[in-house]
Amino acid sequence: MVVPESLLRKCQDFSSALADYLFPPNCCYCRKSLSPVSHEETSIWSEITTPRLCTDCAAKLPPMTDNHCLKCGAPQGPHIPSRHGCVHCKRSHFAFAGAISLHLYEDKFRKMCRFCKQDSGQNLTWYLARQLWQAEKNRLKSWQCDAVVHVPMYWTRRLVRHVHPAETIARCLASCLGVPFWHRALNQVRQVPHQASLSPSVRRKNVLGIYRATRLHDFKDRNILLIDDILTTGSTASECAKVLKRAGAKQVHVAVLARGAGR
Ligand SMILES: [Zn+2]
Ligand SMILES: [Zn+2]
Repeated sequence: MVVPESLLRKCQDFSSALADYLFPPNCCYCRKSLSPVSHEETSIWSEITTPRLCTDCAAKLPPMTDNHCLKCGAPQGPHIPSRHGCVHCKRSHFAFAGAISLHLYEDKFRKMCRFCKQDSGQNLTWYLARQLWQAEKNRLKSWQCDAVVHVPMYWTRRLVRHVHPAETIARCLASCLGVPFWHRALNQVRQVPHQASLSPSVRRKNVLGIYRATRLHDFKDRNILLIDDILTTGSTASECAKVLKRAGAKQVHVAVLARGAGR
């Protein structure tokens, strides 16, 4: 049966209107109302409900750069060799094979990353994770990851903080890659002072031995994509990668939204 063009168009108008009613189009950062997405831009329901930024907030994002350090993921200027590390990581040894990030953790992007940690920040986290996918899909695919896991949060912190940006990013990238998201693949077994409050040398000692791989998943010979929201010294991600490799993982790569200033 051939569906008439006019009827198809009416169905698309109705689904767009219903989506706008159920999910009012607001900027996922400042909450400003946005113009509805027309069916000419997208006719897919999931795309209509995808978080969006207004033009003012989108302008707060730093410009995208094509050149990233292959070792730690820090964005850097063009024509700078990046295979053997950059100014942020040249003295660091990581247990992960490589990393990507969207932007440096500074200025307005730093504020956005902090907003992602709030209850109302989950849509922005998803939006930024999609941006990371759009910018780095070739490299993410080239790692041939079998599953996506995230840096865990200690259970008492999880109780008071209802959102966990690393988990949201992991879910988003797993869906983009078409591979399983392995929930609770890692556990944090004891509470330690928050990394951001410590000096770089103490941070490395602070995370030693605090993560365990759970027995919920089989890591043997798997390529794992490990997710966190921010990577600063790389100590946390490296410790998690070490644990995953000890559990049998063949290789671990890391993806984060922001790369800290690398001290
Ligand atoms: Zn906005
Ligand atoms: Zn680097």
